[in-house]
Amino acid sequence: MPKLRCTVDNCSYNKEQYCTLNAINVDGNGEGATNVEDTCCASFDATEYTLSNKEHVVQAVVDVKCTADNCIFNHHTVCNAEEIGIAGASTCTCSHDTQCGTFRCGRD
Ligand code: SF4
Repeated sequence: MPKLRCTVDNCSYNKEQYCTLNAINVDGNGEGATNVEDTCCASFDATEYTLSNKEHVVQAVVDVKCTADNCIFNHHTVCNAEEIGIAGASTCTCSHDTQCGTFRCGRD
């Protein structure tokens, strides 16, 4: 399971740029993703953003299911990267405003 850092500050599960979920889903649209911008964190959720969410416990490593088949770190929909970075501005309003910055296309 990868270590995860995340810059999406307004996600309900973000605490000090770490994730408090023990599992997330990254969407890469099957073989559709060929660059970072084609991926997103499907677990992003801004709707329950409250101060109390900041009491959640940071997870050092996170189980990452991912549909980006072209990524070199994807092994049968499981991310095998040592560390990943989810990126997005604090103005994100939906999951498609986020991306997996570690995506690396292995397609020729
Ligand atoms: S590094 Fe690749 S396999 Fe891992 S979550 Fe990001 S896009 Fe998916």
